[in-house]
Amino acid sequence: MDMHPLPDFHIHTPLCGHAGGEIEEYVLAARELGLPEMGFADHLPLFHIEDPTLAMSHDDLPLYVRQVEELQQKYPDFPIRLGIEADYISTHMDDIARALASYEFDYIYGSVHFIESWGFDQARFKFEFDRRDIDDVYESYFGLVMDAARTGLYDIMTHLDVVKKYGHRPVQDMTGLYREVARTLKKSNVAIELNASGLHKPVGEIYPSLEILRIMNEYGVPITFGSDAHKPSQVARDFDRLHRHARGAGYTDYVTFRGRERIPRPLPAE
Ligand SMILES: [Zn+2]
Ligand SMILES: [Zn+2]
Repeated sequence: MDMHPLPDFHIHTPLCGHAGGEIEEYVLAARELGLPEMGFADHLPLFHIEDPTLAMSHDDLPLYVRQVEELQQKYPDFPIRLGIEADYISTHMDDIARALASYEFDYIYGSVHFIESWGFDQARFKFEFDRRDIDDVYESYFGLVMDAARTGLYDIMTHLDVVKKYGHRPVQDMTGLYREVARTLKKSNVAIELNASGLHKPVGEIYPSLEILRIMNEYGVPITFGSDAHKPSQVARDFDRLHRHARGAGYTDYVTFRGRERIPRPLPAE
């Protein structure tokens, strides 16, 4: 196991229907790794579709919050943050905002997993990539990321270029689009996450790419770190690579969150 001094803020729980282990095992793993801090960010229930394999059910949201609070009480010497990963679904933002306002989250991750009704990052729907113009797909996807940032509901956008998950690359140069995204995130006061899960997807890369991350740094968009663990053994997985990635893009600090408050921290030496 690799030890790492960075906090892992993107940890799921079995409540989402596609993660393993027991919730406490994720805490034990993080403690064993010597992480300074950890945060759960399980999937907020979905409002636009019903699919128990994608996110926790509406009844489970209070249970999720209670389980994390119980762990906070059980391990008072170890900072465990209560986060959530909430989809951006333009047609259901009132419901999403209401659900998010019901609890005192430490931070809220925004994610885009749907382009209209197309769940583009699900293997069962990836055939749709072959029927569309890939540049249009990228533009639609990043357009939604910017719309999400502008809502003011999210503290951090997760897996920023997850549209590349199955290895589909834009044909045209997207630098202009990425600059627009960086400007929008900065203006909306939204951070981004370095997410390790892409290393284990067909694309085999960290989200976001070094190219995008350099642009984010240029615009002063802050970063967090997340494994996107769906098993206790995945906590802080590949964090040495995330650390190098951040350094490679020129970052010298990162942020953590508590009570929706952003806390800057220096990036440790490699
Ligand atoms: Zn998940
Ligand atoms: Zn996600």
